Amino acid sequence: MSSMDDVDANACVSCDTTSETYLGIQGDEDWHIRVLGTLGLPWDDAYDWVNEEIDSGRHEITSGGRFTVVYPLCPECATRVSGYPAPALWDDDEPVPIIGQP
Ligand SMILES: [Zn+2]
Repeated sequence: MSSMDDVDANACVSCDTTSETYLGIQGDEDWHIRVLGTLGLPWDDAYDWVNEEIDSGRHEITSGGRFTVVYPLCPECATRVSGYPAPALWDDDEPVPIIGQP
């Protein structure tokens, strides 16, 4: 799992199993990598994934380098980290919880 291209779009970022729930991350590159790493993603994979998101051009990046990406994340992986919001189903009525950079 080294890039967005070779992974199922609905595969949990941390354990690669199919996930219907999502968690957003909002912040700069280091913040995204730090949160993904804390969730259990190997640091190299987190770095590659975040850089792929940046290079994709799909995300609006502020002058401060902050951007938001919604990542697939299963509830099992989320519960390994206390203090993070629970991932949620992604539909039009229910906004996905976002972990924002302080
Ligand atoms: Zn998982």
